[in-house]
Amino acid sequence: MAKVAFLGLGVMGYPMAGHLKTKGGHEVTVYNRTREKADRWVAAFGGAAASTPREAAQGQDMVFACVGNDDDLRQVVLGPDGAFAGMAKGSLFVDHTTASADVARELEKAGRELGIGFIDAPVSGGQAGAENGVLTVMCGGEADDYARAEPVIAAFARACRLMGPSGAGQLTKMVNQICIAGLVQGLSEGIHFAQAAGLDVEEVISVISKGAAQSWQMENRYKTMADGKFDFGFAVDWMRKDLSICLSEARRNGAQLPVTALVDQFYGEVQKIGGARWDTSSLIARLKR
Ligand code: NAP
Repeated sequence: MAKVAFLGLGVMGYPMAGHLKTKGGHEVTVYNRTREKADRWVAAFGGAAASTPREAAQGQDMVFACVGNDDDLRQVVLGPDGAFAGMAKGSLFVDHTTASADVARELEKAGRELGIGFIDAPVSGGQAGAENGVLTVMCGGEADDYARAEPVIAAFARACRLMGPSGAGQLTKMVNQICIAGLVQGLSEGIHFAQAAGLDVEEVISVISKGAAQSWQMENRYKTMADGKFDFGFAVDWMRKDLSICLSEARRNGAQLPVTALVDQFYGEVQKIGGARWDTSSLIARLKR
């Protein structure tokens, strides 16, 4: 059993912190920028709530975070009220935010200078994965830090793996998002074409999902996509944040991402037609305009 803090009780962080307490049996202190969520979490799970990341981090073996983007992460980690200011030498910071590889390396370096370990550990599996404690966690950092973090992460993960040095977890998550972007556009075009051709989409999918076109997106999203319902998780605004991270990393490493760049623009169009909070399968909506 470890003494841990969790910073950021959003859609993902709230249930993840809950699993650390209920499944992992760890002693958990939470911090959330909007205090009401932290109080609600303590009422549901027990544990304690702190007023700043620094206060939450004091005396902990490990500090977890799951906030929005690079700047949000810097805000909870650095500065006089940030977690690093409260963490002791030899403790470990585990970041589950989907952020850039650059910010992971920057914070790993800042932590190392203070004797604090830092693991970048973005997740895949969405809200349902967080609530059911079956996330996939992709990690970057030092092997001995990872070895300490992994048994604690196990409280909310089905799979967890060290992918390489600092930043490698974020780079792996970028691959995940690149694969999803093109795939969802392909599925959107397939369903759109089937409807234009007068085919029964249900029948089409029941046949082709047994073959080479099968995918998680096809099995889980075809019906709602065909019905124009987009209230099923990861929002377009978040996806654009992730794709912008992928595209700027590709500019640095020279990878060619023509389809990803195009799909990012398509998501921009979905935002313009009111779909900023729709889920990522809403790419089909812009084909139906
Ligand atoms: P969310 O529901 O919007 O929650 C964001 C959390 O971060 C909230 O607790 C928010 O506090 C906190 N926060 C944001 N900016 C902050 C700041 N500057 N200082 C302090 N706290 C701040 O988001 P989410 O869906 O949980 O996603 C969190 C991260 O996981 C994102 O990087 C996202 O890309 C990634 N992710 C999400 C999913 C998904 O399906 N949702 C799946 C995989 C990965 P307040 O309550 O005060 O706003």
